[in-house]
Amino acid sequence: MHQPSGTRYDTMLYKRCGRSGLKLPLISLGLWHNFGGVDRPENARTMLLRAFDLGITHFDLANNYGPPPGSAEETFGRILRQDLAAHRDELVISSKAGYLMWPGPYGEWGSRKYLMASLDQSLKRMGLDHVDIFYHHRPDPDTPLEETMGALDAIVRSGKALYVGVSSYSADQTRQAAHLLKTLGTPCLIHQPRYSMFDRWIEDGVLSVLREEGIGCIVFSPLAQGLLTDRYLTGIPADSRAAKPHGFLKRDQVTAEKVEKVRRLQEIARARGQSMAQMALAWVLRHDEVTSAVIGASRIEQIVDAVEVQKRMTFTGHELQTIDRIVRG
Ligand code: NDP
Repeated sequence: MHQPSGTRYDTMLYKRCGRSGLKLPLISLGLWHNFGGVDRPENARTMLLRAFDLGITHFDLANNYGPPPGSAEETFGRILRQDLAAHRDELVISSKAGYLMWPGPYGEWGSRKYLMASLDQSLKRMGLDHVDIFYHHRPDPDTPLEETMGALDAIVRSGKALYVGVSSYSADQTRQAAHLLKTLGTPCLIHQPRYSMFDRWIEDGVLSVLREEGIGCIVFSPLAQGLLTDRYLTGIPADSRAAKPHGFLKRDQVTAEKVEKVRRLQEIARARGQSMAQMALAWVLRHDEVTSAVIGASRIEQIVDAVEVQKRMTFTGHELQTIDRIVRG
């Protein structure tokens, strides 16, 4: 059993998730990469426990995280049982379903059939009787939204999730989902979209819907999978995500143009007295609507670096304009 730090709640800021009762840490930890069956279990364990000691109470998972798919939930379940069982009620654990998980017509997208079965499988892998947040992972162009939201509502009523949310839904889809859920009597707690200096799509509609509907927002890949850090400034390191065969960041996405932009952004970060990663995190967190940024990490130092974002969160108008100019090219 892990003996957690007695100071774990002293420095982290916890922000209210939309108009709900739930607060989330400014920085959350995602288990998409580096917690799978192919990864070093001891590294996964030490990262998770250090995150908890730093006040990170929210861990983000999905049915398919690995590789192989499902193995990140198994890793997490093991650590929870061995080290954090006494602290379950201090944690906000999320999972999702939407991407391909098993063969045949019921192993992906947004049917009631798939969502219910997938959550049961996730709970089994993690050794839990409920998750705190369950997401529909991506919009389904074919299943009626009424069915998908009906399944989320039923899941909350069954006690297998305390809250529900959506991921990667457009502004219109989010509004419709929120209204359907409201009619059923289950609020939409949270939206999980991708957002970073390199991908600003939510500024065009999603954020305003979230504000109006009182839905929280946790942004994923805030560091553009590592591009918005010092990681790739001198090439592609052998231990980086872009170098790994199963990494979702591909070598050809590490372009000279992007690296040059990061080099210029880093000058601003340096003048602000923070790392490039910290500035990228402060930048996504500058919106009132953004509750938390869910980062990934391959080593403890990256988590420590992220948490220290809190030392410098605000931007001058001039800094924001310069950042806009650099990222827009
Ligand atoms: P990030 O943009 O935070 O990228 C994480 C990677 O950046 C790390 O693995 C590491 O790369 C590098 N890095 C992190 N911190 C630092 C630092 N301080 N200095 C230098 N490099 C750093 O997020 P992810 O893309 O990992 O996504 C985060 C989470 O979001 C996922 O784990 C998942 O929970 C969620 N997500 C949700 C999706 C959805 O559809 N809802 C889709 C994708 C992610 P390296 O490994 O090379 O060291």
